[in-house]
Amino acid sequence: MKAVLDHVGIAVKDLPAALAFYRDALGLDVEAPEDVASQRVRAHFIPVGASSLELLEATAPDSPIAKYVDKKGPGLHHITLRVDDVHAAVEQLKARGVRMIDETPRPGAEGSTIAFVHPQATHGVLVELKQAAQRSAVSPESQVKRYSLGELELISLCDGFIRFDGGAMFGTVPKALWSKQQQPDDRNRVTLAMRPLIIRGARTMLVDAGLGDKDDAKFHDIYGVDRSRNLDRTLAEAGLKVEDVDIVLASHLHFDHAGGFTVREADGRVRPTFPRAQYIVRRGEWEDATHPHARNRASYLRDNYVPLADAGVLQLVDDDQTIMPGVKVRRTGGHTMHHQIVMIESGGKTAAFVADLMPFTSHVPDAWIMGYDLYPMDTLAAKQQFVQEAIAKQTLVFFEHDPVVAAGYIREAHGKRSVEIP
Ligand SMILES: [Zn+2]
Ligand SMILES: [Zn+2]
Repeated sequence: MKAVLDHVGIAVKDLPAALAFYRDALGLDVEAPEDVASQRVRAHFIPVGASSLELLEATAPDSPIAKYVDKKGPGLHHITLRVDDVHAAVEQLKARGVRMIDETPRPGAEGSTIAFVHPQATHGVLVELKQAAQRSAVSPESQVKRYSLGELELISLCDGFIRFDGGAMFGTVPKALWSKQQQPDDRNRVTLAMRPLIIRGARTMLVDAGLGDKDDAKFHDIYGVDRSRNLDRTLAEAGLKVEDVDIVLASHLHFDHAGGFTVREADGRVRPTFPRAQYIVRRGEWEDATHPHARNRASYLRDNYVPLADAGVLQLVDDDQTIMPGVKVRRTGGHTMHHQIVMIESGGKTAAFVADLMPFTSHVPDAWIMGYDLYPMDTLAAKQQFVQEAIAKQTLVFFEHDPVVAAGYIREAHGKRSVEIP
């Protein structure tokens, strides 16, 4: 089996003294602590290269860490090895007569699955095996989800999953950090969902349309495309037909957002997917997509949008404006110069579809910005402004690419942001 050192757990008795060494004397960065309520433990992770140190502090006298420290004093508590398949790993060890604490793997923190090996078998070191959270194309994550917002109904659809390079998805964030959020595959790719949004009010609007099905096998291999769930299917599950869509609104024209705008007929002709819809695109984005340069060319595929102009269904907007009652576009720039998000308001409640401003919930912290972004400092400014507003207004935020979370509320406590799923 392949195993990677995930972290080394250190039981701590006097946390300020431990921080004085690890943080202040060594100068290492300590992440915001995580409470593991079931273990009465607070964990402080310190990234060191591809692995971490984990300072473990008891939060109650009956905590296993408190008992450990009482008996043995502070010190090395456990090491954690990350494996691809913890069930297979446990079976392999048992077949070789290795004594386990956990005969069958059990749930660990953050959706992981873990099993402890008995120290008798490991020459005195407590060894934890860990399989990171699986965030792949499984059904609960791709279900149609409905939300009501005042007079409006919001329906989150799914056009399947695609895989992009993990480094590019997280920009300057070290792999040691992002790989804890999203486990990369053997080609270093992480999974993105594509979640177009239906807004039903005065009219029926679709925001973005996923990848569509015009791409060939080579493209599907490069990007690990999985469209076993797709827009056709999820639209039908929502009780809608392509004819029901009045307006298609583009956040921007990258292929994972605009691919579904058009379909290719048997004769090779490409036509708009939604026969009755007007397609609304920001003028600057249209200009960039029709005049790509070396840096953005791979993201813009003409068949996704040029046929809209040919069919006479394209409408260009120049500035932030209301598209239908309760629905406005707002330019953020950053990801592309004219990338826009959708602000939704009804009955005193707000929602927002943030597209590639924050593709995953893990992009909510300021510094988590994609390497793909053409103007990352603009992303930063737009995000800071948006997040403050979203927290203050309790905005329901739709994360277009998060493989697990369709929408949630951004919260902030002690300088750490999180997303609460309704
Ligand atoms: Zn994009
Ligand atoms: Zn995207």
